[in-house]
Amino acid sequence: MTCNRRRFLQGTLAGGGLALTAGVSSTAADNARVTTEALDRAAEAPVLDTRGLTSPIVMESIELLRAGNEHFVRVRSKDGAEGVSVTNSRADYLYPIFNQLVAPYFVGKDARRLESHLFEVYRFRSNYKLQGLALWCPVAWVEFALLDMLGRVAGKSIGQLLGGVVRRRVPVYIASGRRDTTPQEEVAYLQRLVAESGAKAVKFRVGGRMSRNADAMPGRTEALIPLARKALGPTIDIHADANSSYDPPRAIEVGRMLEEIGAVYFEEPCPFDHLEDTRRVTDALKIPVAGGEQEFSQRRFRWMIANRGVDIVQPDLQYYGGLIRSTRVARMAAVAGMPTTVHISGGFGFVYMLHFASCTPDVGMYQEYKLGVSKYRSWFDSPLDVRDGRMTVPTGPGVGIKDIGALLQDARPVK
Ligand SMILES: [Mg+2]
Repeated sequence: MTCNRRRFLQGTLAGGGLALTAGVSSTAADNARVTTEALDRAAEAPVLDTRGLTSPIVMESIELLRAGNEHFVRVRSKDGAEGVSVTNSRADYLYPIFNQLVAPYFVGKDARRLESHLFEVYRFRSNYKLQGLALWCPVAWVEFALLDMLGRVAGKSIGQLLGGVVRRRVPVYIASGRRDTTPQEEVAYLQRLVAESGAKAVKFRVGGRMSRNADAMPGRTEALIPLARKALGPTIDIHADANSSYDPPRAIEVGRMLEEIGAVYFEEPCPFDHLEDTRRVTDALKIPVAGGEQEFSQRRFRWMIANRGVDIVQPDLQYYGGLIRSTRVARMAAVAGMPTTVHISGGFGFVYMLHFASCTPDVGMYQEYKLGVSKYRSWFDSPLDVRDGRMTVPTGPGVGIKDIGALLQDARPVK
């Protein structure tokens, strides 16, 4: 981190102004601690708390099911324990990988050894050759279902299984996800989202998505950034996502515009796998740079953290292979004083985000939310709501779904 950058972060954390930094609080002491060895130690420490799970929980079946347009994974143990997960929409085409390369590994294994299974399934049938979200999404779906099952057996929520609950309410930003709008249409849409959700923060898209500097429409980004601040006013916090649109010079120009309006962070300015270019942008800007949603390698996250390639790491809970692997990233980031603000995929994905945020000390200022809570409310006993810009973490055992049998009564196996 450059001196300028550190001064900015300290200044914004100390003072008022618009949206400050996303909880980025790296200090000289943090920087001194960030050795490869320290990051490895943080990543290798056990995550899953198996206390109270005294006898083996041997997996008997792991099935991918479909009901309507949702996919589910149901796991059952030989003793009749059960767990469920809800997948993102990539199950539509990743189901052969799930059925042939991931689920078979887990059958007959003890679910309490989940942490070591995450490495063994990567070796199984040379799955490591496929590593990327096509492999790690199916692994995440099994992991979520196993954590649900273990939580039901132990009477603990997922957060309690993964190190202990540190918060029960989670501030969210509402994500627009659009590029088909003019700047005027986009701010009107953002205002509608804020009114509908009660969120105190938004995220909109800039650039053209993996577009070699081209904008979604000419002049959209430069007009949208100041217009959004003007229309939303000083109290709504703003995030912007470039989805890999820019080279460093253009990313730095856009980042300066975001600094002007006091944005919280600038996400994925450069092609996501171009770590050196992303780092150049991070070095040049005062505003925090966030990234990592397509990342699937712990070693590359380690590089990003050790070299301050970004200021905020963003593993996707499904693309990156689940809550335990993402917690390992968060623990590395914590060594460097960096927040972990996960990316979420899938309509139900925000529920896993809530559990992650429940047990991760530094998740930054806001977590992502894309509307749709009402669709899932009846699945839970505890309130699943957005109120005053914050969502409530489900409190039941496992993921908190009250009745797996009722949920899956019309579900059919996907072969
Ligand atoms: Mg993004």
